[in-house]
Amino acid sequence: MPDFPHLFQPFQLGSAQLRNRLFNPAHGTTLGKDGKVTDELIAYHTTRAEGGVGLIILESMTLHPTYGFPEAFLYAGSDEIIPGLERLGRECRARGVPVFGQLFHAGRAVRLSHDGSRPQVWSASAVPDERYRMVPAPMPNALIWELIDAYVSAAQRFAEAGLDGVEILAGMGYLIAQFLNPHTNRREDEFGGSFENRLRLLREIVTRTREAIGPSLTLGIRVSLDEKVDRALPPEDLIRACQVLDADGHLDYFNVIAGSSASPDGWMHVFPPMAMPTGYVAPDAARLKAAVSKPVLVAGRINQPHTAEAILASGQADMVGMVRALIADPEFPNKARTGRAEDIRACIGCNQACVGHRLAHHAISCIQHPVTGRERTLREPRPAQAPKRVMVVGGGPAGMKAAVVAAQRGHEVTLYEQSRQLGGQVLLAQQLPGRAEFGGSVTNLLRELELCRVRVEKGVTVTPEFVQSEVPEAVILATGARSCLPEAEIEGATVVEHWDVISGKAEVGDRVVIADWACDWGGLGVAEQLARDGCRVRLLSGGVVAGEQLQGIVRDQWLGILHKLGVEMIPFARFFGADSTTAYFQHMTSGEPIVCEDVDTVVTCYARQAENALAASLQDFSGSLIVIGDAVAPRTVEEAVLEGFRAAWEL
Ligand code: SF4
Repeated sequence: MPDFPHLFQPFQLGSAQLRNRLFNPAHGTTLGKDGKVTDELIAYHTTRAEGGVGLIILESMTLHPTYGFPEAFLYAGSDEIIPGLERLGRECRARGVPVFGQLFHAGRAVRLSHDGSRPQVWSASAVPDERYRMVPAPMPNALIWELIDAYVSAAQRFAEAGLDGVEILAGMGYLIAQFLNPHTNRREDEFGGSFENRLRLLREIVTRTREAIGPSLTLGIRVSLDEKVDRALPPEDLIRACQVLDADGHLDYFNVIAGSSASPDGWMHVFPPMAMPTGYVAPDAARLKAAVSKPVLVAGRINQPHTAEAILASGQADMVGMVRALIADPEFPNKARTGRAEDIRACIGCNQACVGHRLAHHAISCIQHPVTGRERTLREPRPAQAPKRVMVVGGGPAGMKAAVVAAQRGHEVTLYEQSRQLGGQVLLAQQLPGRAEFGGSVTNLLRELELCRVRVEKGVTVTPEFVQSEVPEAVILATGARSCLPEAEIEGATVVEHWDVISGKAEVGDRVVIADWACDWGGLGVAEQLARDGCRVRLLSGGVVAGEQLQGIVRDQWLGILHKLGVEMIPFARFFGADSTTAYFQHMTSGEPIVCEDVDTVVTCYARQAENALAASLQDFSGSLIVIGDAVAPRTVEEAVLEGFRAAWEL
């Protein structure tokens, strides 16, 4: 009996025959160009097709001039999309995977602009949103009918390109959801008012699309059953809408997600970060499944095959979707299917290089798997032409990844770590409340080290003499960074570094001020930890907001937690000094003092310094000497892993 019998059961979804029940839902990649498919995008998807996924639903494509942005989205409103889609679909099908295209219009949820000016946006009515603070213009009736035609034409282009199916995005708070919701649809024409009228846009699109594409393509919709925003579309209304569409008989499936782009609280459910429970949207899918006759698909923080199997086995959904899980490990399905589930590089929900890159207009990647988004240039490690004896110094993520990739290439690798445990600063980050999963990045690397049989020496301090005695042909230095206290005027104050607080080395009093230069996980995390311990916490950050350096969804969710815990937060604060009861800051733009009284302890989150003394003393080393990660310049796990990969790639 295979480990995941439900997950790897073939499935018929409309007219598409799928080899298993694991699908890759639509997600922006920023790998297209000028609204068209590129070789990079094809390489991205074919890698996932080779990894064993059952179905790929391509990223949301725009379809009408009222919402385009070819810098960020593929554009299905023109025949120019057809050749690229045709090639992409053919390549994936050759690897056993049907491909659907997804169509969407953001309505008022628009962040991007062609030229830096704020674009005019459209919606059902002039109801502003809370995320982009846009006030849309109500769509004229004639424009709505034109848009329906555009959906149909775009779906026909998918058919012409040979794709296997069409998905209409009707959730996440985008245009169709704005029409469905009585709070955002205040119209009095045939598209507003009654439930039937608010459903008309979606119903017309579905009906006419089916007429245009015929029965040979699968047709589905994606919906948010629970938008998780103030003034959400009630789930009962959404279920009723799905029942009407189900009865119409044009749809082959319903794809359920949570969240909405309407406001920050809804948006965080579109890409739920690590503090959200895994598989938590499955009960929504089960609710819809009980109400409709067609298959129900679900996605949302499903990052392990066991979670997916449990959802399928319990009958909550017919298929499970994974985006980030396949960004982190495209081989996830193959590994789960062949009894190698423990080899899966599980996504940790950090959102940093996938969603973070996407929203910053860069190609998506993964902090754990830098090949993602770079499939054409990095791909998997190629064998070394002349295997070398390689010494990797430093057992944080940079050194671990370098050791793994060097070993995969056939080099003889030994990894040295000064402490008794591999993992570097991740070992601290994972101790923070709600961040235990961050440690998964180290667990994954430990497994990779084990699989490629890297020799690991812990508790060893590598000196220049030691390097000489070992006679390596290449040395990769990943010696990391050390924490530092800021330069400040301290007189009689208790000032401690946040690493020492997290690790329990430093004691703090009841009234704590955090001087947060870094604006990353450290300040937010130590504030949460101390607030949960019962301290009065004031978090003064050297940026526009605490956690400024983190991916927005992760930050916003964390800020909500701190708000609930009563942490006081002050932005633009430059630490100046402290005495026995008072901490002094300067406002970074006004220059005015910010004085915090009644302070027992100041906790600092300051700039780390590269730990690179060994590099300086090895300047005469005759072999290859490469310094990577924080030892070059302190940054994040993403850069550490990327540079570890590249260093080993270039040996
Ligand atoms: Fe998952 Fe983080 Fe990788 Fe994104 S960057 S796929 S959230 S591990």
